[in-house]
Amino acid sequence: MLRERRSKTEIPHNRGHLFSVLAKALKPRPITTVSSWADKYRILTSKGSGEPGQWRTDRTPYLREPMDCLSVTSPVQRIVLMFAAQIGKTEVGLNWLAYVVEHAPSPMLVVLPTLEVRKRWVKQRLDPLLNETPVIRKLFDGRRLRDGSNSEDIKDFPGGMLVIGGANSPASLASMPIRNVLLDEVDRFPWEVGNEGDPLGLIDERTKTFPRRKVLLVSTPTVKGASRIESEYEKSDMREYQVPCPHCGEYQVLRWRHPDGRYGLTHHKETGVVYYTCVECGARIDEHHKPQMLAAGKWVARHPDRAVRGYWLSGLYSPLGLGFTWVELWQKWEGCHGDTANLKRFINTTLGESWEEQGDSIEDMALIARLEEFPAQILSIAVTAGVDVQKDRIEATVVAWGTGEEAWVMDHLIIPGDTARPEPWEELEVALRDAGVQIAAVDSGFNTSMVYDFCRPRRWAIPIKGTTGMHRPLVEDEKRRRQRLRRKVKSGIQVEPLGVDQGKALIYARLKITQTGPAYVHFPRTAAFDDEYFAQLAAEKLVTKIKGTRPIQEWVQTRPRNEALDCMVYALAAMRLSGKDMSQVPTPALANPELQRPAQKKPARKFSATRW
Ligand SMILES: [Zn+2]
Repeated sequence: MLRERRSKTEIPHNRGHLFSVLAKALKPRPITTVSSWADKYRILTSKGSGEPGQWRTDRTPYLREPMDCLSVTSPVQRIVLMFAAQIGKTEVGLNWLAYVVEHAPSPMLVVLPTLEVRKRWVKQRLDPLLNETPVIRKLFDGRRLRDGSNSEDIKDFPGGMLVIGGANSPASLASMPIRNVLLDEVDRFPWEVGNEGDPLGLIDERTKTFPRRKVLLVSTPTVKGASRIESEYEKSDMREYQVPCPHCGEYQVLRWRHPDGRYGLTHHKETGVVYYTCVECGARIDEHHKPQMLAAGKWVARHPDRAVRGYWLSGLYSPLGLGFTWVELWQKWEGCHGDTANLKRFINTTLGESWEEQGDSIEDMALIARLEEFPAQILSIAVTAGVDVQKDRIEATVVAWGTGEEAWVMDHLIIPGDTARPEPWEELEVALRDAGVQIAAVDSGFNTSMVYDFCRPRRWAIPIKGTTGMHRPLVEDEKRRRQRLRRKVKSGIQVEPLGVDQGKALIYARLKITQTGPAYVHFPRTAAFDDEYFAQLAAEKLVTKIKGTRPIQEWVQTRPRNEALDCMVYALAAMRLSGKDMSQVPTPALANPELQRPAQKKPARKFSATRW
């Protein structure tokens, strides 16, 4: 078995020596914690860090407590870090690793999501640490030359060894007992490896023989309900970092949005300044207040009785020079309004929050409560329609889109009639013309040939087909789409695939926004927007189901009809497909010139659908 270096005592040969050994033993070792070790020895390399040089815990004071839980003197065994990116979470693991190697030698296992990620991590994180922190380099020097015991996956050091595995490879998760385990980016771990089940279960088995084990789990979160780090955090004592207001002194957690819907940050339009508002006194907190606030901060547990330590930290806490400033956060936030994938990345990575929490379900009553009188003229960048085709009727939602995709839902049309016959289609064209629609997305799932006949001669009418799966984007990215449109299709018409699950999540997330501005959805107080309309809009719920051992997310209909929701998703897709720049200044709605001509039963000219 592996011996612990410090338990090795030498037998003194004489009294003088005995005295010096005793004196040494009685003198407390100055370094007992991971943070004090790092402050003394850790050198940040130019490769892995924006600020090379001596490590200073004071620079990121919120890391002190989580790091010190990893010290041999701390009784804590399991530590969970759910952090935004670029605010130091990786350094916690690296400082601990270096401390184990130099100060408290014992076996340590590091697990990355895959073997490929392992390779990158060794090159970009571990090798610089081993080579550029002198006290660590000393321990590995020579050994590497002497024997072949140091490879990519196993590194020996005096008194211990470092095993580096990939969660997708059970063979790489050492079979030996392990005392210290660092699990990095656990939200990217697979849910099953081979026939061996969950890699986290396998790893936990390895640590059981050590009563004083330490397990550190680190990640930015992903999708709510399917995020490992979030579920681990929720089982922990759930610590949040409270910082004092520089004006009134009230300790508070910095949040992107408060539970009542208010945003933590405010963007001053004229000056471009972005500041935080104190929840207690309402005073303006500026970026330059941050260092003193962080230094005076403290971790506060929501469940102090629980043994597992959990730490959550948002990107709002980034110290100056690390991560993003508040202005940069605000710009990123505004920049991703039109893009589900970017919005998700912003929420997960930049804020350190899980994504789906806003997209789960909505309350129809809350929407009815905010019906408003629309002004006589709505300024917009694009007017689109989402068209849903049933056997006995066509339904269409007309939406005017403003800057940042702020939406004014203008009308919801229900055109009764047999959709296998031309009459309801003619009526649809007239209705869309009257509404000033420029682009319409028409569902081709039902009565497909009639939908094609309608769309083929009309450039502004795009046939669409919904596909399920939370990973599918609402509309294809530009490159993929161009490639697809280049291919000829038999029907002579290009059908746009829509990721409707993401579309629904996006619509629901927006319906929860309570502040007018980018992404907000307005509804007019008109007859079309009645109880039935809103009940349909709120007709679905996102649920997490377990398929095998893997959680998957699905939209489930909670009432029979949901056309209002479908139409809204299609209208949003139509706006995305219009290719308009949604950051520009809106103008009075310009009606579709093609639609201004009287409706034609027989198309005068052939339209090549591939041009779209
Ligand atoms: Zn205050």
